[in-house]
Formats: sequence, C-alpha cells, structure tokens
Amino acid sequence: MKSEEIIKETERYDTNIYKPLPIVISEAEGVWVKDPEGNKYMDMLSAYSAVNQGHRHPKIIQALKDQADKVTLTSRSFHVDCLGDWFEKLSEISGKARVLPMNTGAEAVESAIKAARRWAYEVKGVPDNQAEVIAMKNNFHGRTMIPMSMSSEPEYRRGFGPLGDGFQIVNYGDAEALEDAINDNTAAVILEPIQGEAGVNIPPSGYLKEVREICDRNNVLFISDEIQAGLGRAGKMFATDWDEVVPDMYILGKALGGGVFPVSVVLGDDEVLGVLNEGSHGSTFGGNPLAARVSEAALDVIIDEKLSERSLELGEYLLSELKKIEHESIVDIRGKGLFIGLELNKSARRFCEQLKDEGVLCKETHGTVVRFAPPLIVTKDELDWALNRVKKVFNKD
Ligand code: PLP
Repeated sequence: MKSEEIIKETERYDTNIYKPLPIVISEAEGVWVKDPEGNKYMDMLSAYSAVNQGHRHPKIIQALKDQADKVTLTSRSFHVDCLGDWFEKLSEISGKARVLPMNTGAEAVESAIKAARRWAYEVKGVPDNQAEVIAMKNNFHGRTMIPMSMSSEPEYRRGFGPLGDGFQIVNYGDAEALEDAINDNTAAVILEPIQGEAGVNIPPSGYLKEVREICDRNNVLFISDEIQAGLGRAGKMFATDWDEVVPDMYILGKALGGGVFPVSVVLGDDEVLGVLNEGSHGSTFGGNPLAARVSEAALDVIIDEKLSERSLELGEYLLSELKKIEHESIVDIRGKGLFIGLELNKSARRFCEQLKDEGVLCKETHGTVVRFAPPLIVTKDELDWALNRVKKVFNKD
C-alpha cells in the first residue's frame, strides 16, 4: 500500500488524539527511517526520546529475541530469573536501593505519587487524606488522571473532571515560590529537570540544588521525572546530575525500553519505596521478563557506547551550529546535550512540514518550538546532513 492509502485507512478508524505529520514510517534503523515509497528521513524526534539508543539497536533486538524464546510473561505472582540482574543495574546506576517496575511513563508517575502520599502519612505524619504534592507550571507528566490533575494546561484537562485533589502549581525555576508553597502537609515536589513537552525549558543553573535544599529543610520528597530528560538525553545519565543533586525518587521510562518495549520504573530509597507493601500496588505487565531483558540491554548500550557523553559533546556542537542561523522568526535556541528547542515567533508546524520534505523528521511542541532530539548514536556527519537541511528551510522562508 502507498503512504496516502495507509494514512487514509488509519484515519478512518483512529481516535483523533494526534495530528501526525503526513508521513508513514515502515522501516527504521539507527537514526534513519524509511517510508513505503523508499524515501529516507533522519529521525530528529526519537519517539519523544524513547529511541535514544537508535532504532532497532542490534544488542537490544537480540535481547528481545533471546528472551522471547524463553519466557515472556508470568505476572509477579511468580519469580523470574531476570529481574534481579536488571534491578541491580538500575540500583548501581542510580544509587537507589529499591526499584518499582511499571510499563508507561504516566503509570510510573502515578506510582511515585502514591508512594509519596503513603510516605507522608506513615513516615512524616501528615493527617489522613491531607497530603499535598507541588508540581510545576507547564509540566508534563503524562495523560492519566493524576498527571492530568497536576497539569497547568487547560486543554489537557478540559472535559475530564472531576480531577484529583491535593496538588499545587508553582512557577518552574522559582525556588522562592516553591518554598512559599510548602506547608506541613506537603509530601513531595515533582518536576522535570528539563521540561520537554513545554518546549525544552531549562531551569536556571543551581535551581535543582535549591529544590533539593528546600525539600531537605522541610522534610519533603523530591521526585525527578526523568522520563524524557534522563538516560543521556540531556548529556548526563540523569538530568539532575547537571546540578549534582540526587532526588528521593527518579522516574524513568521511554529510553529505558530502548525504543523496543514500554518499560518504566520508580527508583527510590528504602525509606520511601519501603512504604509500599503487598497489595498496595501492582501491574500485570510491570517487570515482565521481556521488559527486564530489553531494558537491561538498553541500559548497557547507554553505558557501553557512552551515549551520555556523546550527547553532551554532539549537543554542544548542534546547539552552536543552530545558533549561527540568523533568521527573523527565531526567538530562542536552547538545549542541554542533544535535547534542543528552537523557538519561533510563529507556529512551528509549517517549519516541521518543510523539514520533513527535506528529509528531517521533527515535531512541533508547545506550538512554537521545534525540538531537535536525534537518537544519541547519531554521528557528527549525520548532524551536518540535518543541519544543512535546517538551514535550507530557513533560507527558503
Ligand atoms: N513524564 C514526562 C517528562 C514525559 O515527557 C512523558 C511523555 O512524554 C511522560 C511523563 C508520560 O510518559 P508516557 O507517554 O509513557 O505515559
């Protein structure tokens, strides 16, 4: 079938919650994808950073195949022989004692909020049902009820009430506002160390350190949602490493599954995740053997291929080259590692469509921002190839 027919057939049945660019991807390898007509494109979105290791990384695919030949799903009612290795790796990387495996990002966010609330009641001594969580303006933590209840974006919430209680929103990057919002019932602060969906918003340097100190002073948990910014994307294993701080809970997803499988986790200390006991939480698919082996391989690739370091180095190069482009519609270019936002003074959709016609796949975010987030295995030559096309589109405009 041709691309046009495929799109027509899909749209006939689809629930219209996305507005994809008019391109069909039928094959992918590394940083490259192909449509059914055989046209090649460079992926500069990486499935919102879920493909940091590149499409179909051979080691990750091998792990998937090997495990598929053994056992794929048992539920957590029985032990399996591959969770321990994966947990150990996650613990080594994060320094956290406990791992709570889930599937999607939103689910892991829900899980972290549950743990934080229970910690507030059982450890901090907050009166029943009074626990509060502070989230940031323009956050994105997913689409299920709790993330939605924390969202400051009216369009994410419209028509879905009643939403969950117990959330406060403060301005991102404003440490004073955060401290002012804390009260005796505050259980946790949740934030993205770099706000991805909001348009690659980078907080002021030192802000995360201040958040850590504020949380310590007030006996409040610091939850870092690293689902998009973590695992090398922002040039460090964890984006909180930029301020050399360790949160009480890390939430990971996306690239944790190596672009192959939905895998997410909450990582936390004993004192925090230890409050969850048998029957308090669970997931049929969370921690399944395929996920464990795929994720272990996905982590190995990040470490062995030094993807965080690559991201840092190549990100600096890409950012500096993009900054050389002079164009009246560019308002700002910002980034850390290969996590770069180019903000325009108009809708970024048309620009993304023009880039697609030149063979570069990006997606607008927050209306006016183009996010450049290629797989972290990208080479400098490949970035130059993309940069030439970006320049061409600006020159045409
Ligand atoms: N948290 C952050 C920071 C995200 O960027 C996303 C997805 O974009 C999520 C949570 C939700 O993840 P998922 O789509 O896997 O539920």
